[in-house]
Amino acid sequence: MLKIFKPCDFHVHLREGSLSHFVLKENNKHFQKILVMPNLKKPLTNSNLLLNYRKKILKINKSSEVLFTIYLNKDCSLKDLEYMHKNKLFFSAKLYPLNATTNSTSGVSDIKKMSKFLTFLEENNIPLCIHGEHVHNNDDPYEREKKFLDKELSWITKRFKSLKITLEHITTKDSVSFINSHKNISATITTHHLLENTYSFLGNELKPELFCKPIIKGSVHQEALQKVALSGNPRFFFGSDSAPHLKTRKFAPSCCAGVYSTKYSISNILEFFWINKKSSNINKFLTQNGCKHYGLNYDKSTHSYKRLKNFKFQKYSKFKNDYLINYNCFDNIWLKI
Ligand SMILES: [Zn+2]
Repeated sequence: MLKIFKPCDFHVHLREGSLSHFVLKENNKHFQKILVMPNLKKPLTNSNLLLNYRKKILKINKSSEVLFTIYLNKDCSLKDLEYMHKNKLFFSAKLYPLNATTNSTSGVSDIKKMSKFLTFLEENNIPLCIHGEHVHNNDDPYEREKKFLDKELSWITKRFKSLKITLEHITTKDSVSFINSHKNISATITTHHLLENTYSFLGNELKPELFCKPIIKGSVHQEALQKVALSGNPRFFFGSDSAPHLKTRKFAPSCCAGVYSTKYSISNILEFFWINKKSSNINKFLTQNGCKHYGLNYDKSTHSYKRLKNFKFQKYSKFKNDYLINYNCFDNIWLKI
């Protein structure tokens, strides 16, 4: 048995409409706080869109503290950002490079043109969450993250020294080194990047359910993520990047990027720390490190989880006339009791 604080997920996609009801309900079971991403079909770039989305989500939310993000791009206005910040409508700003992932066609093509917004964030102590991939035609998708560190992130950290940055869903040893050698920057790690590698993704049969951006990397990179997560290093914490897509859109001629991991993410993390004999660092990775980075208080009541061996997990969750594919890595499942 394990006793832990109710975890936080500092990177989740709730989407919209009836799908967001379904996904939020699952999130409420597992997380005390969720940081919700803004890449809706119409990205949340202004106060009208954000207010509308907030209203819908907060109406159906039962128990988690929901932290909202704003989608930063050239269409944002400083005046509107000021208004939203003053009224505490959003918690952090998210930056997507153009076409980096699902719903990022409104992303940023030249980060240097975003200076006035980054200055605003820095001056107001608003965290910047970054999808760290340099996206360019004909570039190797396996090189995108490293290129982003070299070309864009180095520029940002040099120029905006007190800006609080979260590099989201890191996948490489290069990102681990970058975080460790720079100030004011932390990183989230997903369940699937921690537990999978190119071999499990496409070494034998291709598993479309594991296709995501940034793409899952080789075992050298996976081991660097595992080592730093298990160590309890305060600069690294959990953000699932759980992204629901319908089964018919995943098992399709053109498979969309995203892994839906919410249902078993805590079970997977508990098993991973358990088998590596690092259970004492679970609270750091799942709750404390993220809250410390963001300056947030958290609920310290504990919840017990029981380990069930060879549990038959639910691979698909029925949604309307389709399914969501639940990510799970282990035969043993940890259930909250
Ligand atoms: Zn994401």
